[in-house]
Amino acid sequence: MNLIALPAFEDNYLWLLTHQQRAIVVDPGDATVVNQALSRLNLRLEAILITHHHPDHTGGLMALQKQHGCPAYGPQREAIEGQLRRLEQGEEVTVLGHTFEVFDVPGHTAGHIAYFLPATTAGESPLLFCGDTLFSGGCGRLFEGTAAQMLASLDKLATLPDATRVACAHEYTLSNLRFAKAVEPDNLALQRYIEHCQALRSAGQPTLPSTIGVERQINPFLRSRESSVRRSLLSIAPSLGDDANAFALLREWKNRFK
Ligand SMILES: [Zn+2]
Repeated sequence: MNLIALPAFEDNYLWLLTHQQRAIVVDPGDATVVNQALSRLNLRLEAILITHHHPDHTGGLMALQKQHGCPAYGPQREAIEGQLRRLEQGEEVTVLGHTFEVFDVPGHTAGHIAYFLPATTAGESPLLFCGDTLFSGGCGRLFEGTAAQMLASLDKLATLPDATRVACAHEYTLSNLRFAKAVEPDNLALQRYIEHCQALRSAGQPTLPSTIGVERQINPFLRSRESSVRRSLLSIAPSLGDDANAFALLREWKNRFK
């Protein structure tokens, strides 16, 4: 299978997963971008996966369904217009002959879900479509959920195999990494990863997909219990409280970070 990032809007990626001339699209915020790619690559759209209700993830859903007549899948607990098969934690969806597991990952929105494909029999690495929950070097803003929910969601994703490709929905990596460096100035893996991502962006390439193994080494939101992160948090707050409170302090620091 082939994974293709389609740039859309300012900094979104709409993900196409293809097998021979068949394709699925994840979070099609813009139908035109998807249709242009389908024609250019001579692909037939077989399914649409949605992670959460925000318009930059769902804006093309109705038009694509109407044009291509394909099934669409999305979260059980979010209001999204369209004919969706609704999914929640523990359910599965089979597309392109492969079965994705569904996780509830609330935090960015209340009903956000993620799709996980374990390693395929063809030897391809596992693949995660996580929308706006986990970004490379960062995580989504808490628009509807709590810090405790987001921490639990990220903890769930952090247990996936290191080789898991992380196909998140925004190219926020370099700005996330500037914050990560402020949190962990002595993290050598982070320094190397910043150089790697700068080279990719200079060449006009996406920094995504990342991997869970990389994120566990460099992403402060997967590392909020590390002593290096705790030390930095204590430089901005007199006390940290429990894990969820420490995570909330980290998220608020990022919100203010320029
Ligand atoms: Zn969103």
